[in-house]
Amino acid sequence: MTTHQPQGFGVTADTLTPTEQDLQVLSAQLGRKVRDVVEIPARCLCGNPLVAATAPRLANGSPFPTVFYLAHPVITSAASRLEAEGIMYEMTDELAQDDALAAAYAQAHLNYLQERDRIGKKAGIADVPEIEGVSAGGMPTRVKCLHAVLGHTLAVGRGINPYGDRTLDLIAEWWTPQVCACDPAWRQQN
Ligand SMILES: [Zn+2]
Repeated sequence: MTTHQPQGFGVTADTLTPTEQDLQVLSAQLGRKVRDVVEIPARCLCGNPLVAATAPRLANGSPFPTVFYLAHPVITSAASRLEAEGIMYEMTDELAQDDALAAAYAQAHLNYLQERDRIGKKAGIADVPEIEGVSAGGMPTRVKCLHAVLGHTLAVGRGINPYGDRTLDLIAEWWTPQVCACDPAWRQQN
């Protein structure tokens, strides 16, 4: 079995596995107890999780397509601000007119499915027919959810998802990977 070489922000093969503290921080970030977290594919400079790689079928049996779940509230708020401006519609129009971009985004969709398959296997889940071929965020032909495409970019690194990459650029006034914007209280809850 070949070892997965993580390319996400702030992680190495040694820091992919969620710790108890990671689960505590994720729960504080999301305001609910997290479950079914398989990897931490992206971390802040300070080590806190940015994204939770979640099993494609939850322990309660529900299919869960969004394998790279953006958890950090400063980043999710920034993505929500962009969504409120309707940037997804411009992106979707652009996709329809730019063949190279459409091809790159189609590849991002396939990468997302491959990564979800890998995470599922790691969690002992073989197939999830309910979501087979369905990725997230509107891929491959639309941009619907900036949180999903940005979570993808943070989890696999730049150069895979063109709209995740662009969303990361567009939120720079509110969050960048170079600055920790975490709340110290996230590590102090029980
Ligand atoms: Zn931080």
